[in-house]
Amino acid sequence: MAVREVEDVFADIIDRAKVLDPANTREWFDSLKVARFDGGSLAVGCPDEATVQFLRANCRSSFTRAAQQVTGHLISVDFNVDTKKEKPALAADLLPGPRLHPDYTFENFVVGPSNRLAHASCFAVSQSLGNTYNPLFIYGNSGLGKTHLLHAVCFEAHTKTDGAVIQFLSCEEFVNRFIGAIETGNLPGFQSQFRTVDMLVIDDIQFLREREHSQEEFFHTFNALYNNGKQIILSGDSPPGKIPSLEDRLISRFTWGLVAGIDPPSYETRVAIVQKKARMRGLRISDEIAEYIARKVQANIRELEGALTTVQAVATTTGRDITLELAQTALDDQIKLAARHISITDIIEVVTRHFDVRLTDLQSKKRSQSVTMPRQICMYLARSLTKHSLEEIGGHLGGRDHTTVMHACNKISLAKDADPETSALLNELTRQITNPTTT
Ligand code: ADP
Ligand code: MG
Repeated sequence: MAVREVEDVFADIIDRAKVLDPANTREWFDSLKVARFDGGSLAVGCPDEATVQFLRANCRSSFTRAAQQVTGHLISVDFNVDTKKEKPALAADLLPGPRLHPDYTFENFVVGPSNRLAHASCFAVSQSLGNTYNPLFIYGNSGLGKTHLLHAVCFEAHTKTDGAVIQFLSCEEFVNRFIGAIETGNLPGFQSQFRTVDMLVIDDIQFLREREHSQEEFFHTFNALYNNGKQIILSGDSPPGKIPSLEDRLISRFTWGLVAGIDPPSYETRVAIVQKKARMRGLRISDEIAEYIARKVQANIRELEGALTTVQAVATTTGRDITLELAQTALDDQIKLAARHISITDIIEVVTRHFDVRLTDLQSKKRSQSVTMPRQICMYLARSLTKHSLEEIGGHLGGRDHTTVMHACNKISLAKDADPETSALLNELTRQITNPTTT
């Protein structure tokens, strides 16, 4: 193919991918380049590592399907950093631990009365590590932007500071790594890894509750960093004093610096968020529609975004423009869908179909990889998509006890963070479970 032709084909593939997966469409798709396109493979050139990780985790399947539909051939798609670009590498490839999400920057964060203090304190910290609020503790209900702000601090601090070592991870991962270090007898390695950074950011610290040994270890990590003037940022679902079974000495330390809460957003902030998210996806929607969506979803920004996704998906699949009427019908349908109760049976059905295993195998004592992996995925998905307890989930899968289920959930969650393929697979299975009509 001539260069021009390749570019045209690639532009068609991008357009097709947008239609196939509106939720993961971003305005910057149009700036992606073809790095290589030959035989049966397409390499997409991306500006930085964070973008590569986002695309690998969320868009591989839509891009592959799009490439197949546009060219009529089976084409494997991969994403790589475009080495011709001069732009410096983003923080994500320097930081061990979960990848930073390229959407979660200060630029993409809408500030309003509900989150002004949290935003301002995060921004101040990012400008001068260890010198303003230390520790900084951000709390709020789920879906209000804590993780987004924490990622934003990491991105910003990375560009602002020269060579600062930043460690970002979820509390669950901190605990798992701690347990791993004990198991492998490498506690000193673990300790030096966490006690020598310039900034330690731990998301969802409430996960430390009822984990005595991890609390003890975290206490010493905290002291070592704090005494050396290193920055610590934590997030939690409630203020330190309200996290059950958290040791007093930790509660007191967590309140040494600044504790900033995030409240549910006001109507005006919600409208601005819908408009911002729409722009990020390259979507044009009228004020009237943004206002309608903002009135419909009130308490949780993740759901607000979900509502926008639904509207976008209905528009792209039916090929219609986004009108107020379309938004109204789309969201009414979504509310019906949300009311649909997801059961463990739904999950097992999708997982067994995908892996081509039988329920009796999942419930058996078999420990071969081909059975263990789907079984663990069932446990993980049941934990994240239903309200069943660990015991109940274990009960459905051959009467396994709660520690087995917890171990499975941790393992899959780690794999999800570390491996884009696993993350993509879990996204796809979740889609099939929550939205069975489109499979
Ligand atoms: P939490 O960690 O508090 O549960 P997240 O940080 O994961 O919440 O936020 C959920 C979603 O809402 C994310 O997609 C995030 O980008 C978005 N979001 C939250 N607050 C804002 C905001 N003020 N502006 C833009 N997007 C936001
Ligand atoms: Mg979070």
